Amino acid sequence: MIIDLRSDTVTKPTTGMLQAILNAQTGDDVYKEDPTANKLEQYLLELFGMDDALFFPTGSMANQAAIKLHTQPGEQLICDKWAHVYNYEGGGVSFNSGVSCKLIDGNNGMITAAQVEEAINPPDFYHSPLTSLVCIENTTNKGGGACYDMNEIKKIKAVCDTHGLGLHLDGARLMNAIVAKNEEPKQYGQLFDTVSICLSKGLGAPLGTVLLGKKELMSNAIRIRKILGGGMRQIGYMAAAGLYALEHQVDRLEEDHVKASDIASVLMQQSYVEKVEPTETNIVIFYLGQDLSEEKFIEGLLQKNIKISSMGQGKLRIVTHLDYTDEMHQHFLNVLNTHQ
Ligand SMILES: *Cc1c(COP(=O)(O)O)cnc(C)c1O
Repeated sequence: MIIDLRSDTVTKPTTGMLQAILNAQTGDDVYKEDPTANKLEQYLLELFGMDDALFFPTGSMANQAAIKLHTQPGEQLICDKWAHVYNYEGGGVSFNSGVSCKLIDGNNGMITAAQVEEAINPPDFYHSPLTSLVCIENTTNKGGGACYDMNEIKKIKAVCDTHGLGLHLDGARLMNAIVAKNEEPKQYGQLFDTVSICLSKGLGAPLGTVLLGKKELMSNAIRIRKILGGGMRQIGYMAAAGLYALEHQVDRLEEDHVKASDIASVLMQQSYVEKVEPTETNIVIFYLGQDLSEEKFIEGLLQKNIKISSMGQGKLRIVTHLDYTDEMHQHFLNVLNTHQ
């Protein structure tokens, strides 16, 4: 038994999902003739109450396309210093859009409306890059799965409106936030210009992210996707997996959250652990004390067929998911309790 807690991307399709893939009706999506891809896009745009939706192979490509839709070369976007768009998309912001990032020193990957306001370059001061976009992440990845307070998002939206800025949501784990906070998808649809929803993280599909947005922005999305190399053919097989996930594997995210919270509680009691970040969803971030190196700890777990990951700066990360069973959970908690 291998217990892989490095990420919620390691899951395999469930039996029901495999069945949905086998039964999928498909067509050539580059001609927009794939009925299942069209159905998935329609499902999500209705769920979020947005105008338009487009299926992308990856979350990075969907975020990068959104940034391209919102900006012109030379402009600047505002995001947290830990943002995925800045740290983990290969420098795509500058490569694809010729845009720079103004980084905010946020709290667990979350920024405030006041910080956004302060980070905006005055538009008539032509020496500075023109600020045109704000990107936020919910839940935050490097911030340990933290969820935004809806009131703060509303305030950020108000700042964006006042200053004519676009607002993009990197919602790789948005469903985790919606489940944890008992929110409605439409609350997000009303506030953001574009939203990316990942199907291959907690939702458990093999691949895919859907970009949702306002009509005027999204009219160019299919061209940008083509330019980035993301025009795909019989993608209905994967869209079927995504639809299945949305219909059957959203409510169960709560189970992942409970398990992550159990793990955080057990870690907090261990003498070898220095600090555990607040655990709101399916990500646990913690730090070891001085006497135990990260490499040694990770290696020790690996000997027991348990995989976790390091995020640098002393951060260790555990992510719970669909394929992390109750049996694995009991075993892992025992291992943590008996680790020297
Ligand atoms: C995983 C993730 C993405 C998208 O990553 P891909 O691997 O390109 O699908 C984007 N944002 C966040 C916060 C993520 O965790």
